[in-house]
Amino acid sequence: MSKLLVFNWKMNPATLEEAISLAKASDQENIVIAPPFVFIEEVAKVLKKARLGAQDVFWENPPAGGGAFTGEVSAQELKNLCVEYVIVGHSERRHKLGETDEIVAKKLKAATDTGLVPILCIGETEEEKNAGKREAVLERQLKTALSDLQLTTNNLQPFVAYEPVWAIGTGNPETPESALATIKFIKELLKNFRISDFGFRVSVLYGGSVNSQNLQDYIKYKEVDGALVGGASLQEEEIKKIIKLI
Ligand code: PEP
Repeated sequence: MSKLLVFNWKMNPATLEEAISLAKASDQENIVIAPPFVFIEEVAKVLKKARLGAQDVFWENPPAGGGAFTGEVSAQELKNLCVEYVIVGHSERRHKLGETDEIVAKKLKAATDTGLVPILCIGETEEEKNAGKREAVLERQLKTALSDLQLTTNNLQPFVAYEPVWAIGTGNPETPESALATIKFIKELLKNFRISDFGFRVSVLYGGSVNSQNLQDYIKYKEVDGALVGGASLQEEEIKKIIKLI
């Protein structure tokens, strides 16, 4: 199966011009581009091969006509802009903005109920890693996130992104061997949750300081279904090298 790369632009770039330029540089098969909400509509117009993603979604999905949730964006609004994928539970939202496992679960449900393919981010902090709690944290995050999902039967293929918090944006990635072991662990957990009974086949990505130099070291493993790329997806030289690798 081909590998998927998700380009998470976070709160970048500053201008629409730069966003369009980045989108054009990244427009390849098996790439999902997740721009800030404000650029989604214009980025959609220039993409021919890459798919469109969003970085977040609100959990309420009011009927047409909207809802009283100032500043939030619904899954249906994203869908109407031709967004296909949505990142849910990114560690910056969990740890800098206080998003709980329960909030992540509600967002995941809103996304799947609306037919958006979720990219669920899970990962341990450095403190949790050092305390030997990595597996327990991942299990808790995954279990809670999936708890509401069992009633949905949309035939979606969700993604989980294993993103150790300490590896994101630090230039200090998890080693490929250890990322592989953790991704195998996550896949085992998913089997135990019997999520495939509900029509899901979950793919698992690695994220955390991936760039053109190290991408291959992760995606060479058959168990690693791709990567979530932040910083490197904002540099056109890096993008050129990265897209040659998938
Ligand atoms: C991310 O945005 O989730 C991420 C992994 O960022 P970076 O590649 O910059 O570490």
